[in-house]
Amino acid sequence: MPAIPSSKPYRIGRSKTGLGLFATQKIKKGTKIIRYFGPMLDLKNKKHDDIDNKYLFEINNRWTIDGSVRKNIARYINHACRPNAESDVNSRKRKVVIRAIKTIQPGEEINYDYGTDYFKIFLKPIGCKCDHCEKKRAKKRAEARAEKLRLKLKAEKKAAKQAEKQAPKSGKKASKAVVKASKSKAASKRKAGLGSANAGPHARGTGKPTKTKSSRTRPLSRVQPKGPDLATRASST
Ligand SMILES: [Zn+2]
Repeated sequence: MPAIPSSKPYRIGRSKTGLGLFATQKIKKGTKIIRYFGPMLDLKNKKHDDIDNKYLFEINNRWTIDGSVRKNIARYINHACRPNAESDVNSRKRKVVIRAIKTIQPGEEINYDYGTDYFKIFLKPIGCKCDHCEKKRAKKRAEARAEKLRLKLKAEKKAAKQAEKQAPKSGKKASKAVVKASKSKAASKRKAGLGSANAGPHARGTGKPTKTKSSRTRPLSRVQPKGPDLATRASST
């Protein structure tokens, strides 16, 4: 790594995408931070035109800076879509300086926008890793998660509603079953009763509603004779 004089307000450090340039002191908005430099490539020169690397900085239609040289510390500055610095190009002097467009705090990574061409060719295919794009992606993921959760809750609600619709039916069925069971119990009891000699007309379920009804109005007088009968039965068994 190239040495940087301690008087400079930056250092090379680890960033999300490898190495980056970080402020070591507060850098005020508008301050010239560093020059982007390297051999000048003349695109009219066939040899120059064949040179290709990630650090080419196009100044105009003819001149390009080959910033891949080791001494060019500015090549460590990463791209950001919402940067805190910019590349200030003086086309006539063929000079590029990186300038703070916001006040940069110590420890903050310095970055500038590499421009649309670079973005389209190098960053878009792999996905830009700048804070702005990462946040955008995180937001999208959060939204997708929220949407998934919403759909899940909706499905659960629907399922619960359906279960509720079916629940009373099954509940009725259950109660019906209970009724049936008790009915059948009663029936078996009845049958047992009928089996005995003295099942009077007041006995339930005779299939004769009029008699049953009338018997209900005054059941006691007619039930009474049954008492001793049952008692004898109980004692006989
Ligand atoms: Zn970005």
